[in-house]
Amino acid sequence: MEEVKAVVKCGNCQTVLKERTDIAPADRNPCPNCGSMARAFEVSLHASITFKGKLTAKGKRAGAKKHFVIQVMGDDFFRKMKKWTKLSRVIDREHDSYREIFTDPDTGQTIHKCVEPLSQHTGHGSAKAKENKS
Ligand SMILES: [Zn+2]
Repeated sequence: MEEVKAVVKCGNCQTVLKERTDIAPADRNPCPNCGSMARAFEVSLHASITFKGKLTAKGKRAGAKKHFVIQVMGDDFFRKMKKWTKLSRVIDREHDSYREIFTDPDTGQTIHKCVEPLSQHTGHGSAKAKENKS
């Protein structure tokens, strides 16, 4: 299984922390600088996207504060293979499901697949932050 490389930073003071991205929030240690338990994940993969397209679709129920499903489809640069891949990511809050699949556009083969309960998914950060506002 390939892992997407991510940098873990303190969500409060932005100090870079030597912490794995896949540990449970309960197992985190407070930031040595400010003591915060908040984390920000920086996925280096996304930094290289300059001209390829990506589409994000969000489903929201009337009156609901949060989106219950978020879907991302498009091109994503898979650094380990040094090539562009097709990304399909579905975050489904209603069913507590996180699904991420990278496929090789040339062969149609699955390169990376990550399917897990959303509540267990702490690796990329995109599932959480940001979504509280709108
Ligand atoms: Zn801090």
